[in-house]
Amino acid sequence: MAVPFVDGFGRRVKYLRLSVTDRCDLRCRYCMSEAMTFLPSKELLTFEELDRVARCFIASGVEKIRVTGGEPLVRKEIMQLFRSLSRYLADGRLRELTLTTNATQLSRYAEELAVLGVRRVNVSLDTLDPDKFTMITRGGLLARVLEGIAAAQAAGLAVKLNAVALKGFTEDGIDDLIGFAHAGGMTLTLIETMPLGEIGADRIDQFLPLSSLRRQIEQRWTLVDLAERTGGPARYVRLIETGGKVGFITPMTHNFCEDCNRVRVTASGVLHPCLGQANAVNLKRVLRGDGGDAAVMQAIGFAVRGKPHGHDFQIGPGGRPALARHMSATGG
Ligand code: SAM
Ligand code: SF4
Repeated sequence: MAVPFVDGFGRRVKYLRLSVTDRCDLRCRYCMSEAMTFLPSKELLTFEELDRVARCFIASGVEKIRVTGGEPLVRKEIMQLFRSLSRYLADGRLRELTLTTNATQLSRYAEELAVLGVRRVNVSLDTLDPDKFTMITRGGLLARVLEGIAAAQAAGLAVKLNAVALKGFTEDGIDDLIGFAHAGGMTLTLIETMPLGEIGADRIDQFLPLSSLRRQIEQRWTLVDLAERTGGPARYVRLIETGGKVGFITPMTHNFCEDCNRVRVTASGVLHPCLGQANAVNLKRVLRGDGGDAAVMQAIGFAVRGKPHGHDFQIGPGGRPALARHMSATGG
């Protein structure tokens, strides 16, 4: 077994978010601009290269891989990758393989994902109002997402919902979203919008601090803070009336980095040890060089040791993004 990846602050990296595409069939207004330029497909890591990245991380102690994007399920023949990654689940090298998806393609893939050993999926869903959904995603159909969620649950996958909190959008309808989530046995996690990439709008106009959304939720429901942590940045409450949980991820109003155990690899093979900082190592060059897995692991180790202590998200002057790269490019 290789030496585990530990950063300069003693945090052990156990969790890889692996992006497989920067493309998406939606254009959520907080994530993308209307006219995005996407990577040419030859820039993407091949499935063999993605599998090799996974193997090298697993060899140094990564226990959990989340496949993401862009929308991971729009990449052509994506099940090939899940099939090859599921080998690591089957032989016990990997504890968990999961994905984050907008659920538009889940009806098609849920069953096979479950067969391959995926146990849960995170679905992004910001509203239950069909018109608001179409507006925020610039053209998406809510019904398709709801079908995808139902298909995932029918296939035995546990579903968690994520919603980005947006000013003037989320407040009205939050109770419906909570009710829907909890009636279906799903935890709903709310996320403050982060200033990643140019989106053709002022980030300040979108920003809704979760402290204010929580105050609103408290007027309708009884919240009990939970000590429970899932190793991620969310803090959870239980709602007495439903018995279900709501999570709060507050990158903007509280720094959540002290026990961060994750790194991200983009679809083009750039390793970002921190979502909110510019540090990066080009893994693709190493993967396509002749140094073998040893060189790949050395490059990963170098990046991990340079993992910044934390992000410093701030919305720039005029509501400009803190970082030029979009969430869809880094892998959310
Ligand atoms: N397409 C998939 C989806 O939407 O779940 C996976 C990729 S998406 C980039 C991953 C997550 O990032 C989603 O939950 C999305 O809501 C979130 N996200 C995108 N842009 C964001 C931003 N600027 N701030 C906070 N969260 C964002
Ligand atoms: Fe696509 Fe996900 Fe970004 Fe929405 S949040 S545009 S679904 S990548």
